[in-house]
Amino acid sequence: MKITFLGTSSGKTSLKRYHSSILFSLEKYNLLIDAGDGISRTLINNRINFNSINGILFTHLHPDHFSGLPALIVQIKMMNRNKPLEIFIHKSLVEVVEYFIIHSYLLPEKMGFEINYKGFNDDERFNITEKFLFIAKKNSHLHNLEKYQNKYSSLSLYCASFLFESDSKKIIYTSDIGAEEDLLLFSEIVPDLFISEVTHISPLILLEKIKSIKPDMTYLTHYADEDIPALSEIMANLPNALKEKVILAVDNISFDF
Ligand SMILES: [Zn+2]
Ligand SMILES: [Zn+2]
Repeated sequence: MKITFLGTSSGKTSLKRYHSSILFSLEKYNLLIDAGDGISRTLINNRINFNSINGILFTHLHPDHFSGLPALIVQIKMMNRNKPLEIFIHKSLVEVVEYFIIHSYLLPEKMGFEINYKGFNDDERFNITEKFLFIAKKNSHLHNLEKYQNKYSSLSLYCASFLFESDSKKIIYTSDIGAEEDLLLFSEIVPDLFISEVTHISPLILLEKIKSIKPDMTYLTHYADEDIPALSEIMANLPNALKEKVILAVDNISFDF
């Protein structure tokens, strides 16, 4: 598998960096994780052909993770795609996304290719291919909105952290979290790779937690431009046990895994 950090910025728009998005390239399947504002430009910047994407997995619907979707579908349509595009999203959000795409005037009759919505349940083993699956677990990223749920009864506040399994490899991706406890949602797993955001958690607390999670490698992502000086200093002063095991991801890096 090849992993590419397409963008590593937080919800803050940057002139130099793109919102957080990751591409998992398997032998026969390219999975895009999140498609925030500007994702089409992110893909061009990373020299990824729009048509090479087989599926898109959404962690949640904050605009830095979701709002690039209709524009991306337009780009794909203009490339005369005919193979289906799969969209993986929590069951409570399937209709919302489907309607959003239709209300962006992207009608199934006019598309030339199918969009297959694959709704997953919380804590379900969900296969993307025969050998590649994920488990989503709801985290507390959107808990602060729960007090408004009475007023907006149809609002789904589902944001997940993910465990991916391929052959013998295990990857945990926190996506956006709400509290440090979210880092331990898969505490029974010792991952080969741990990918964590660093906007909604202090990097120092995260490094403490990594000592108990014990991943082989950790990549930090989802940080604003103004966080770079402090993060760089932390990276330069990592304790010996974490040196070379914790990497601050930057846009456009990829590695075989
Ligand atoms: Zn975000
Ligand atoms: Zn978010």
